[in-house]
Amino acid sequence: MATRSGIGYDSHRLVPGGPLTLGGVRIPVPLSLSGHSDGDAIAHAITDAVLGAAAAGDIGEMFPDSDPANRNRDSLDMLRRAVARVAERGWHPTHVDVTVIAEQPKLAPHNAAMRAALGAALGIGADDVSVKGKTNEGMGWIGRGEGIACIAVATLERSESDR
Ligand code: MG
Repeated sequence: MATRSGIGYDSHRLVPGGPLTLGGVRIPVPLSLSGHSDGDAIAHAITDAVLGAAAAGDIGEMFPDSDPANRNRDSLDMLRRAVARVAERGWHPTHVDVTVIAEQPKLAPHNAAMRAALGAALGIGADDVSVKGKTNEGMGWIGRGEGIACIAVATLERSESDR
């Protein structure tokens, strides 16, 4: 059994007007994340972590914003496609850990739903998905509420028979 880890980072600007999609969950606040897709920074960071673990490219190469097909794309669909790409190389996710850095919205009420939605897209259980929220203690662009950032680590395994 081979095991690898990948890291992913993403940030999106917060703009007026909801709802906000984060971690595959629609959060009913009068804010949203601007972006070419639905702006789901958690899903994007995980997508890059999954691709990175398998050295299988990155989200910008896989879903270029120059392609109209990616406009308003469901980010969980992007994640599912990344999982399918690494599966072609024999890799499957076993665990994901995410830190979200945001002053708002409060994520705790949505944590269980996000872990379930992300786990379903990854093909793992909610118990194998961790989503942790932090503020930036009021400092800088995150502290001013201009946007949010996410860091994700994905662990992938490949059995030797899949090589
Ligand atoms: Mg993004």
